[in-house]
Amino acid sequence: MHEASLVLAMCEEIEALARKEGAQKVLAIEVSFGEYAGIEEEAFRFAFEALRRHSPLFKEADLRIEKKQVSFRCPFCGETFTPEGPPLCPRCQIPGLPEAGGELEIKRVELLLEEKEDV
Ligand SMILES: [Zn+2]
Repeated sequence: MHEASLVLAMCEEIEALARKEGAQKVLAIEVSFGEYAGIEEEAFRFAFEALRRHSPLFKEADLRIEKKQVSFRCPFCGETFTPEGPPLCPRCQIPGLPEAGGELEIKRVELLLEEKEDV
């Protein structure tokens, strides 16, 4: 499951950020990735749900996913196209290669910064 490793990488990156900022919790995560770029939203959410059950840092985090339009290029005829369904070249009907825009991108992270009060 390739989504699981993406989620893991994402959470590691956010964890490092949270530690740097001295945050206690992650409140929200906003990511985007390209539609039909090989990432399944359902699988991505599922992997995140599984991970956060074991992580106090992410327990209350709200995951928002934004889908981006990705353009594809046909490796055969070089046609660039934006598919509305499976990324097949409209001319050759063979799978295109995703161009820029399909990658997972962390858009925004909301952190809860605990006040440093004496306990
Ligand atoms: Zn083509």
